[in-house]
Amino acid sequence: MKILIKEGVIIGEINTPFFHTCVSVYHVFSQLRLIPVITCGREGTHMKNSLHYKNLAWDWRMSIVPEEKREWVRDEIKKIINARQNDYDVVLERSERIDSHGNKITIVWLHTEYDPKGD
Ligand SMILES: [Zn+2]
Repeated sequence: MKILIKEGVIIGEINTPFFHTCVSVYHVFSQLRLIPVITCGREGTHMKNSLHYKNLAWDWRMSIVPEEKREWVRDEIKKIINARQNDYDVVLERSERIDSHGNKITIVWLHTEYDPKGD
């Protein structure tokens, strides 16, 4: 298994959900011969109650995945990661920004979080 971490990302702890997420994400990306990249851990600005701050949510780069494969990647990860219990949310997210040249750019990423529904 090989996973890259974007510079500046803070992995606050390596816990069981993180490990499980890494294995699941890697399993799907490797079928496309892609190396997953973590683009967000506990750093950055999120909603107040975001699981990012609890070391239970991680974002993954999706620009490396061909556009027509992104929903498949999300669905496959969602299936594998929740094989034993439906504890994980996997969501394709996007945001539009203006770059330094004034061009509108779209950033896409996959948000994964451990959010047990039992409580
Ligand atoms: Zn996120």
